Parts: sequence; C-alpha cells; structure tokens
Amino acid sequence: MVSMHGVQKWFGDLHVLQDIELDVARGEVVVVIGPSGSGKSTLCRAINRLETIQEGEIRVDGNVLPEEGKELAGLRSDVGMVFQSFNLFAHKTVLENVTLGPIKVRKKSKAEADKRGMELLERVGIDSQASKVPSQLSGGQQQRVAIARALAMDPKVMLFDEPTSALDPEMIKEVLDTMVDLAKGGMTMIVVTHEMGFARTAADRVLFMADGRIVEENTPDEFFTNPKSDRAKDFLAKIL
Ligand code: ADP
Ligand code: MG
Repeated sequence: MVSMHGVQKWFGDLHVLQDIELDVARGEVVVVIGPSGSGKSTLCRAINRLETIQEGEIRVDGNVLPEEGKELAGLRSDVGMVFQSFNLFAHKTVLENVTLGPIKVRKKSKAEADKRGMELLERVGIDSQASKVPSQLSGGQQQRVAIARALAMDPKVMLFDEPTSALDPEMIKEVLDTMVDLAKGGMTMIVVTHEMGFARTAADRVLFMADGRIVEENTPDEFFTNPKSDRAKDFLAKIL
C-alpha cells in the first residue's frame, strides 16, 4: 500500500532521510519510534508530499504522488494524516470539520457527506458533539474528530504523527482505543508514537529510526524485549 524506495531528503546540509526502504502491506500497522530529530515526522510528511524528496520514489497503492496540481489533491486524500496538534477549523462545527473535505475534494453532496460524517463521528464516539465547535471539546475528543475527518476521505492509508503527545494523560487511552479499533478493522496505518502499549497491541512491525535511517525493524515483542542495535537499546533504556 505504501512503498518507499531509495528515498533521500536533505534540509540544506542535513541529510534528514537516508536510504529509506519501506514496504507497508495492505492492512499492516507499522509503528515508528526513535529519538527526537531522527526524521519520523519528515518520513510521514514525505508520504503525502507535505515535504518533497530529492531522490527515490514513494508510491501509495502503486501510484507515484505527483509534484503538484489537481491530481495531487486527489492522491493526497488517499493518505489520511493525524497530527499531534489537531488542526481543526475553529469556526466550523465538528460535523462541518468532517464533511468539508468530502464535499470540496470528493464532490459529495452535503446530505451524503452529513450522513457518512455522522456515522464516522459515531464510530469514534462523539456523534453527540456534532454541532459544537472544536473549542467546546476536550483534547481527546478533538483528536477523535481529526481521526473522523481523515477517515471521511476514505483514505487507503492513515498516518499518525504522535497523535497523543499533546493530550492530558486521561485522554490518551480514548484516542489509542480509537486507533486500535481502526487497526482491527483492517486499516493500513503508519503510526509515530512512543506508546508501547499501543505498539504491543496493534503493531505488526516496529521501525526504529535514528539519524534519518531505519536502523532496526522487528515485531513489537522482539523489538522491545530484544533490541539489536546499541542505538535502540539506549533509546529503550531511556523511555521504558
Ligand atoms: P522527528 O519527528 O523524528 O522528531 P523530524 O522529522 O521532525 O524528526 O526532523 C528531523 C530533522 O530535520 C531535525 O533535525 C529537524 O530539526 C530537521 N527539520 C525538520 N523540518 C525542517 C525544516 N522544515 N527545515 C529544516 N530542518 C528541518
Ligand atoms: Mg516528529
């Protein structure tokens, strides 16, 4: 569903993605962990062309993402993205946040988008909040709206970049539970997170990044109990 081949990216002199090779199968859940500054966010952003790469190829469901133009909007909407900061439209209702993309980009009718929007809000457990504006919701609820909004575009893959790091502890679980449900439902997911519980429950594979490289990849059990590289051992000793 996602393939990255020979990917290189520089920010000026900084070689931020180095020799990235990655294939994510349909329905696979890949957790990406690694120290701050190792390139995890850049990797995610490159997949939906929020960042350009200088070398290599990235495909989503077999398609190379175009550089720009109308085609890019369509292909980009195949990739749902959820960030640490929820980035909801402050002056629109929860339901409008979810239906805007389908109406504008997918050209759905308002009635159709509303119906599907309510289904998705129900799925993430906040249908009762549909007519509120984001500031009336808790952080965990806002993040679930962001997830519903991404799902409304019928993405082929969902990227999560530290979706729970900005949340108060008591709200982390409700967001992770939503993500576990999504994983169980067969969604292809790439998730940057240091939530080991999520990785152990939902991940098929853990990638460990350091200095712009994928240093190690393994099943969660193997990775957490028996990391191979010194970098991964050091990192796990700090966070566990
Ligand atoms: P991570 O998500 O693993 O913390 P990032 O992908 O955000 O890492 O960043 C990787 C490196 O690239 C860091 O050193 C960061 O400072 C640098 N970086 C990120 N975005 C930019 C940018 N727009 N311009 C220059 N350097 C950047
Ligand atoms: Mg990051």
